[in-house]
Amino acid sequence: MSFSITERLANGTVLGAEGYVFELERRGYIKAGPFVPEVVLDFPDAVRELHREFLRAGAEVMVALTYYAHREKLRDVGREADLEAMNRQAVRIAREVAREGDALVAGNVCNTWAYDPDDPATRQTVRAMYTEQLGWAVEEGIDFVISETNDYLGEALIALEVTRGLGLPAMVTLAPTQPDRTRDGYEYAEACRILAAEGAQVVGLNCDRGPQTMVPLIAGIRQAVDCAVAVQPVPYRTEPAAPTMETLRSPGGERAFPIALDPFVCTRFEMAQFALQARELGVNYVGICCGAGPHHVRAMAEALGREVPASRYSPSMDLHPMFRADVSAKDAAFLSSWNA
Ligand SMILES: [Zn+2]
Repeated sequence: MSFSITERLANGTVLGAEGYVFELERRGYIKAGPFVPEVVLDFPDAVRELHREFLRAGAEVMVALTYYAHREKLRDVGREADLEAMNRQAVRIAREVAREGDALVAGNVCNTWAYDPDDPATRQTVRAMYTEQLGWAVEEGIDFVISETNDYLGEALIALEVTRGLGLPAMVTLAPTQPDRTRDGYEYAEACRILAAEGAQVVGLNCDRGPQTMVPLIAGIRQAVDCAVAVQPVPYRTEPAAPTMETLRSPGGERAFPIALDPFVCTRFEMAQFALQARELGVNYVGICCGAGPHHVRAMAEALGREVPASRYSPSMDLHPMFRADVSAKDAAFLSSWNA
């Protein structure tokens, strides 16, 4: 029998993996800009395969690809009629692959772009979108809900309320795009404290910041709550001068976000180091967001001391023709040019 998210968190670090939208965009199945996961209906095998790659790399949660699969976004791309089918199919695919291993299935909702703290009517709009999305997800079978990339505490609280109403555990994470507080003015740690007090089982941060600029925000959150903490950075080399992926600039000064971020990608070793650092700081759900590749996830899993299915093909540089101890004389003659 598979352990629940609460049991897993009580027993040790849970490894998550996200970034489906960015990765499937790179592979040619999602349009950058709207970033609507049309791939779920148009190329379900592509979604299945990426889930499987993350599963093999050690991810313990298959997050249904319903990110931005809400009414407002689907209307933008003229596919509002596909809303229900897209949401149901995303959960079905995630479940199918989760069963190939021992992973849980998370329903997924995110910031809607419809929420306006100064316009109370938008609360109802947002609640309706979450209610329909998560209603379908529950019918298809999810183990818990991840509400993520929340810019506003107010919007996150609506997702939490809907999730609790469905009787499911909730993981709610904020998008740390601002220096130290949500768009509606709550310091990240304080917003997490409120979410925990309102019944979230897991709170924390995801997306936007790379490890270097996300890690410093962890301690305050860890201190503010007794519940589990989740941290899922993007694997990009953000730094104090450019703390988020949105602020990274090319040497020529152009904005790198969202489709020219390649030069800033962290290596698997940097992400492995992050996983250890996060666990050390008391993070219970360690993951990765936009930009993630399965190689990052496997390195994080192995750093946490796990052997995962994809470990069978983990690097063996001792078998590389040029790096092995017994490099042949014919090849050794060229080593100097590799070291130049
Ligand atoms: Zn992300």
